[in-house]
Amino acid sequence: MSIIVNQVFKRFGNFQALDNINLTIPEGKLVALLGPSGSGKSTLLRAIAGLETPDVGSIIINGQDTTHLDVRKRNIGFVFQHYALFKHLTVRENIAFGLEIRKHKAQGIKSRVEELLELIQLKGLGDRYPGQLSGGQRQRVALARALAVQPQVLLLDEPFGALDAKVRKELRGWLRRLHEEVHITSVFVTHDQEEAMEVSDQIVVMNGGKIEQIGTPAEIYDHPATPFVMSFIGEVNILPGHSGLINSGHENNTGSLFIRPHDLEITAEKDDSSSWAVVKRIIHLGWEIQVELGLPDNMTVLAYLSREEFSKLKLQPEQTVYIKPRKATLSSDFGTNGKAPQYDYSI
Ligand code: ADP
Ligand code: MG
Repeated sequence: MSIIVNQVFKRFGNFQALDNINLTIPEGKLVALLGPSGSGKSTLLRAIAGLETPDVGSIIINGQDTTHLDVRKRNIGFVFQHYALFKHLTVRENIAFGLEIRKHKAQGIKSRVEELLELIQLKGLGDRYPGQLSGGQRQRVALARALAVQPQVLLLDEPFGALDAKVRKELRGWLRRLHEEVHITSVFVTHDQEEAMEVSDQIVVMNGGKIEQIGTPAEIYDHPATPFVMSFIGEVNILPGHSGLINSGHENNTGSLFIRPHDLEITAEKDDSSSWAVVKRIIHLGWEIQVELGLPDNMTVLAYLSREEFSKLKLQPEQTVYIKPRKATLSSDFGTNGKAPQYDYSI
């Protein structure tokens, strides 16, 4: 059940919420739409669902043009951040709801509900009411309810957004495993890059109603197509007009220099390619140490060190050290003008 989004535009008043979206999501994949708030993720998801009609363009689900198909005829499962369960219905009744209104046979409903309870690992809790569940359990029930009717496509809009960090992390792993069992074509909206990287096969990075890049988590991290993607996915030091501040090893030292904090090497001794810096702050984060460094010009950069590297260097605040990038990206290394190449993105 592939999803093809073809030249989709959507405007709200003067605001262009979707600006020429072209995207193919192959059958059985779990794809994340990742971007900052307001980048158009929910609008795109809602357009796929049929809750929003594109001004221009089409949406093809499994070969059928669904652009103007009624939402109820699309056979899509939904989970939202605040998709409240029916409070007065038990977990079992909530999961059965869609099957009841579609007038499935009682025996069929019963066995499907039990199967789903097992899938969401809440077998013992079928008779509870939503108020007697934790937030994470409730979202699992919402997911079971969405899956009950065997939708062609599952759409999740920040489904774990309202939960605390620890539960979110558990649910991500759980969703990933569930997807490996069920293999339903799924689109997952999040603004959290770590969540997108952990859960999805492919990430669609959105910004300002446009797609900046599509790729696997590793491709997006290691080969960001644009400065936006590089700074949105993971930390990055951006040194504008860095002429001579840090030697990048590039011949042409004009545009900005982008350096990941773990690509910044700190040494005690100077060599030909290093520049001096002063240790400003040391942040211990368990296995990783983050070091804030002051450069000439009052600029600050961040370096991430392993515990071993840190203890070898014996760093102290106010110490003078030498730094050089192991790897750096110049703004001119990105596509033309740092803009995403405009071609039809196919995953
Ligand atoms: P995201 O999910 O990435 O945070 P949305 O797709 O919800 O972004 O929204 C993109 C932009 O479109 C936002 O600036 C939002 O205010 C605007 N928008 C979304 N829906 C509507 C609407 N129904 N009416 C007016 N503006 C809207
Ligand atoms: Mg949203």
